[in-house]
Amino acid sequence: MTSLRVLGCSGGIGGAHHTTAFLLNQTILLDAGTGVADLSSRELLQIEHVFLTHAHLDHIAYLPLLLDATLGARKRPVIVHACAATIQMLKTHIFNWHIWPDFSVIPSAEQPLLRFAAIEVGQTHCVDALAITALPAEHTIAALAFQVSNFTASLVFSGDTIGGAAFWRAVNQIENLKILIIETAFAESNAKLAQLAKHLCPSTLAAELRSVPAGVEVLITHLKPSEDQQTMAEILALQPAAAVRRLIQGETICF
Ligand SMILES: [Zn+2]
Ligand SMILES: [Zn+2]
Repeated sequence: MTSLRVLGCSGGIGGAHHTTAFLLNQTILLDAGTGVADLSSRELLQIEHVFLTHAHLDHIAYLPLLLDATLGARKRPVIVHACAATIQMLKTHIFNWHIWPDFSVIPSAEQPLLRFAAIEVGQTHCVDALAITALPAEHTIAALAFQVSNFTASLVFSGDTIGGAAFWRAVNQIENLKILIIETAFAESNAKLAQLAKHLCPSTLAAELRSVPAGVEVLITHLKPSEDQQTMAEILALQPAAAVRRLIQGETICF
């Protein structure tokens, strides 16, 4: 059985809301948003792999701090799996000795705290008895979705996306798909903004969900805290083609 603990699944902060971060079993993070702040020092130390959907701040905000928090206590590097463009953005804009130190040469280039592993669409990395495959995701910058398979069942996380044919083609090829976590970043009143920002809103989500394979449970993530209840009500009012419910921060999903 695989567990996915929802550390953060909000489109923003405020109150107790945290941005995207999911803990897979004990050692793998899917995205590193502000939800990472909920982990204890011992839990932070157990993380060995981070899979990033893309480089937007709400998905990477706590990666630099995660590395710093375990400096001196780690025996092995944290491996950050992302597409080549995301890795380049992190190197250029974050781990550049200005915003944050370059942990890929700390404490030494031979035994660093951070290693990058490029992953391309269609590639699978096997990590701790899980197969994690990069799927195509269309967003304003280079982005991936991920399939997590434990060889009995699969979960797909869309990351930030407007969906699209390539994503659904990949999703529909997964024979053991059980759960789809998909974003809806904006309420219907912001449909135009959603289109510009390449995010989903209730009507575009409903259209995309016509492509979900039968029997898959759909969990909605990335709702804006200021309009979360309204967005969820709008989604349900459209009677989407799949069983949907809101993903809840703090819950653990087993598959
Ligand atoms: Zn984004
Ligand atoms: Zn986002």
